[in-house]
Amino acid sequence: MVVILFGAPGVGKGTLAQKMQLEGIAKQVSTGDLLRNEIAAGTEIGRTVKQIMDAGKLVADEVVLKLVQGEIEKENVILDGYPRTLKQVSDLDELLKKNGKKIDAVLNVVADEEIVVDRIVNRLICSNCHAIYNKKYSPPKVAHTCDKCGGKIVHRSDDSQEVTMQRIQEYKEKTRPLLEVYGKRGLVIDINSSDEGAVEKIKKILAQ
Ligand code: AMP
Repeated sequence: MVVILFGAPGVGKGTLAQKMQLEGIAKQVSTGDLLRNEIAAGTEIGRTVKQIMDAGKLVADEVVLKLVQGEIEKENVILDGYPRTLKQVSDLDELLKKNGKKIDAVLNVVADEEIVVDRIVNRLICSNCHAIYNKKYSPPKVAHTCDKCGGKIVHRSDDSQEVTMQRIQEYKEKTRPLLEVYGKRGLVIDINSSDEGAVEKIKKILAQ
């Protein structure tokens, strides 16, 4: 199974993907998390992408492909944040073809833009397991400590208001056009991230 979670920065893709993984739907593969892992580990990829990510720009297609490739080959996945460009759509098509897999659904996660910016600037993330928290709406039980793994909770370096606006701009220019491509294939289903029953709905859709 391959499910794509599509949507602007901060609409709630990551939180939804984590819930879907908990429900046993498939494994969350977040390209943002994979890139942040590279930065944390101080790898060559990490050193190349840090500045680009901190500026709210998209990382080169071939770098992201390299990271996503192994994950897709291994198991059923919820792609959180991939693909984001037209080139990534064709890279993914090729990769899936090679592995005898297909895209089951493209879930277009929607939310109001004002809510999105507010959500992002208050977002916190576990530096170890990547669990997502929010200073206002869902803070950790113990300050700076992850409820799930005890890891250190941090603010993402690209979650400032200025960088967020840049990320939204990148989304509008390079990523949003992908909806038309997948729409023509009949794969797009809208999901509202504030909907309490979103995961149940997704389960039903995927079971059809
Ligand atoms: P995210 O955690 O999905 O918000 O991604 C954080 C940052 O990682 C983005 O602003 C990009 O700089 C980079 N990134 C994540 N996924 C991709 C992708 N598919 N293509 C290019 N850059 C990406």
